[in-house]
Amino acid sequence: MTQKKYKNIFPIKKFGQNFLINQKIVQSIITIINPKKKQILLEIGPGLGALTKPICRFLEKLIVIEIDPNILFFLKKELFYPKLIVFCQDALKFDYKYIFNQNNKLIRIFGNLPYNISTLLITHLFQNINIIQDMNFMLQREVAERLVAVPGNKNYCRLSIIAQYYCNIKILLYIQPENFYPIPKVHSVFVNLTPHIHSPYFVYDINLLSSITKNAFQNRRKILRHSLKIFFSEKDLVQLEINPNLRAENISIIKYCQLANNLYKKIKYSSKTNFDYSKDSKI
Ligand code: SAM
Repeated sequence: MTQKKYKNIFPIKKFGQNFLINQKIVQSIITIINPKKKQILLEIGPGLGALTKPICRFLEKLIVIEIDPNILFFLKKELFYPKLIVFCQDALKFDYKYIFNQNNKLIRIFGNLPYNISTLLITHLFQNINIIQDMNFMLQREVAERLVAVPGNKNYCRLSIIAQYYCNIKILLYIQPENFYPIPKVHSVFVNLTPHIHSPYFVYDINLLSSITKNAFQNRRKILRHSLKIFFSEKDLVQLEINPNLRAENISIIKYCQLANNLYKKIKYSSKTNFDYSKDSKI
């Protein structure tokens, strides 16, 4: 079914164009973000400016990445447009380090994300974690619940581990579908992700954590002795005080980090280790 026009724009489904239309929620989000003049703020997907316009009141400039040229055509007519530094690009391919190098300041990234790419985008941003001050995103509720899930929870998965490895994550608002146009089929949540300053976690090689969690969660029903057998013997697991008969969802992030570091040392000190984990390095 074709959507009706909203502010003279036909929302495009493939770009996840569900525009926020509730001003009270907009205001709550601005209060949460709490923008300051000297900060470098970057919005992913400004759309018709629901967040862009009120945020601009606090700033001299705002960086925006928007994939849809029609949207930019719309924004050009707005009074706040001169404050925008616009990149008509795919946020998944954007060079965030360029922005950091230009300003020599950590970046604050925010947006009501297109839900179809939000997980991919967040994991892409983790690759740039060193140049990010914080991230404030509107997400599909299911994605947010996976981000914050703890061991034993049905939502605890590889994304929970990698996300919490990098960031402290808080769910701040729950938002009903009726607050968007067109109305999405899913519920939404507004989330803050702040990179750890003093991280409780450490791994020598993030690719190993990625590989181990990928194998562990590939089949949630499998016990670790089976799912991780290409990396660890039963004896290895016991030595790390991990019960080999547990499932992936019962292992804490600290324990996954220990596994990754144990594997790192094995690879470093053994010429016999012959598995290739590079293919799993994408989180
Ligand atoms: N910020 C607006 C709001 O809250 O009403 C629009 C949010 S809408 C959910 C998502 C926005 O992201 C759209 O403007 C869409 O065109 C844009 N978008 C979709 N995919 C994108 C991508 N890969 N890179 C940059 N922008 C994208």
